[in-house]
Amino acid sequence: MATATSRLSEREIDIIATELEESPIERILEWAITEFGERLAMTSNFGVDGIVVIDHIRQIAPRIPIIYLNTGFQFQETDLVRDRMRERFDLNILEFQSDMSPQEQERVYRAKLYESEPSLCCQLRKVEPLAKALSGYDGWIAALRRDQASTRALIRVVEWNERHQLVKVNPLARWTRNDVWDYVLGHGLPYNALYDEGYTSIGCAPCTRRPRADEHERSGRWDGVRTECGIHL
Ligand code: SF4
Repeated sequence: MATATSRLSEREIDIIATELEESPIERILEWAITEFGERLAMTSNFGVDGIVVIDHIRQIAPRIPIIYLNTGFQFQETDLVRDRMRERFDLNILEFQSDMSPQEQERVYRAKLYESEPSLCCQLRKVEPLAKALSGYDGWIAALRRDQASTRALIRVVEWNERHQLVKVNPLARWTRNDVWDYVLGHGLPYNALYDEGYTSIGCAPCTRRPRADEHERSGRWDGVRTECGIHL
């Protein structure tokens, strides 16, 4: 339920989500930019979906902060695509990370915490840094699609996010995986090289594998044991 920290009531968010449901991505982003102004940020790990949203943002409001969570365990290919996008479009990328380095985490907890207790590792390296990163914003743009996983099937184009007490904007909610790839390839945009090696969803290196042909797009994350790290759901 929307609280006093949001200027929009729960009912207003519901009405806007219905109004924007069929709208093109440009219209959804323009609404968010008008509504939240400088109190709007995007999060991205520079997956192919994020590339689509960033390509629109950089044409409409290029200084919108793009929050990148550096977990210390990401693939170097992920950092490479981040750097290519920054160089090509002069993006306003803000990097956030855990107060603990991977080495300190190993000392305080144990080695390979991501294997024994991935929820704790994600909490330390993603959830807590994200909470810090989003404090001070009223609107949060994310590049989630409904067809990515059953956990995302019910996302709305605009919705209240209880955990971070802000309005979350999902301009790609209606897009399909094919839509995203058509856009990225059709516009000659950079993308993470791991997609060409069979990865379909790219997170941290120790927790990401290539899915089998009969598996779902996000099933290569945490070896199918879980599909969400806790930052979105
Ligand atoms: Fe740790 Fe894996 Fe979560 Fe990354 S995805 S923060 S390595 S548990």
